[in-house]
Amino acid sequence: MKETPLIEVKGLQKSFTIKKGWFGVTKHLKAVDGITFAIRKGETFSLVGESGCGKSTTGRLITRLLKPNGGEVWFNGHNISDYTDNQMRPLRKDMQMVFQDPYASLNPRMKVKELVAEPLLIHTKLGTKERDKLAHELLETVGLSSFHAERYAHEFSGGQRQRIGIARALSVRPSLIVADEPVSALDVSIQSQVLNLLQDLQEEYGLTYLFISHDLSVVEHISDRIGVMYLGTLVETAEKDVLYDRPLHPYTQALLSSVPVPDPSLKKERIILKGDLPSPVDPPSGCRFHTRCPSCMEICKVKEPVFKEAEPGHQVACHLYDEEIMRTAK
Ligand code: SF4
Repeated sequence: MKETPLIEVKGLQKSFTIKKGWFGVTKHLKAVDGITFAIRKGETFSLVGESGCGKSTTGRLITRLLKPNGGEVWFNGHNISDYTDNQMRPLRKDMQMVFQDPYASLNPRMKVKELVAEPLLIHTKLGTKERDKLAHELLETVGLSSFHAERYAHEFSGGQRQRIGIARALSVRPSLIVADEPVSALDVSIQSQVLNLLQDLQEEYGLTYLFISHDLSVVEHISDRIGVMYLGTLVETAEKDVLYDRPLHPYTQALLSSVPVPDPSLKKERIILKGDLPSPVDPPSGCRFHTRCPSCMEICKVKEPVFKEAEPGHQVACHLYDEEIMRTAK
C-alpha cells in the first residue's frame, strides 16, 4: 500500500486585495494560483523561483499562517484547509518554521534558553527546569554549547543565530519544518555548515522539509525533489537529479544556466531572460512565461499550458511537451 504523503497540496490558491493609484482602485494579487504537489514523509522538497513567485506564501499556507482562498492543504491525511485556530492549535507543534532572518525572528529581550524553550512553553506542560534542561540539550544538538543558554541573540553571529532558530523549531519534535530562505542571509562558508546541520537533523529525527529558496545552487545538495515556481504557478517538478540533468521548462533551463559550475573547463551557455518579472496583479495571458520565453510560440500567448506528467515523476507546464499542440503548431 502506498504511504500517505505528509503534505498534499491540491489546486492551492491565495490572493491578496490591494488598492492601486490615486483613486484606490481595488485589484487582486494572485500570489499562489492553483498549485498541486505532495511531500513524502522524510523527504526534502524544495520550492525555487524568483522573489515574488509565491513560494513563501505557499509555505505560510501549508503551515496555515495564512488561510487559502481556494484549493486544499492535506496534512498527514487530514484536510486542514478550513481548520479553525482551535483545530490548528494541536497541529502547530507538528509543523515549525525556520525563517530567513534569524535575528528578526528572535526576541532580543529573551535569553537563548528562553527562546529555544518558548515553543515548549506554548505546546507542552513541562515545568521551567525540564524546559531549561531540554534547551541546553538542543543547543548542543545544533552545534552550540550549553553555556550559550544565558546569552542574548545579539551576542551571536548570523550562522549561530540560525542554529538557535533551528533548535527552537526542533524543541517540540515537529514532523515538518518549513525553512524559508534559511541560509540566504549567511556567508557561503556558513551556508554549507547550516545545510549540513539540517541534513544531519533530518536523518536523526526523521524530519520532512519544505525548503524555500531563490537559489538553485543552494537547494542542489539538500533536496530530494524540486518544484520550480513562476508568477504563482508551478512550472516544473522532478527528482533533484532529473531536474539538474534534464530540465524541461525553458524557465528552469534559464535558472540552471546561471548556476556556477565548480569546474571552469565545463563551460555552459548562460540563458539571459529578456524583460522583468511581470506583475502578479496583471499576469500575462496564456503561458505566464511567454513574455520572457526564448521558445515562445503564437499559441503560448493565448493558451495556458496544463501542468502534467512529461515522464514518470516529472511534471511540466509547457506546450513544447504537449504532443497534440505541437502537432497542430507544425
Ligand atoms: Fe515558453 Fe510556450 Fe512553454 Fe510557455 S508554453 S514556457 S511560452 S514554450
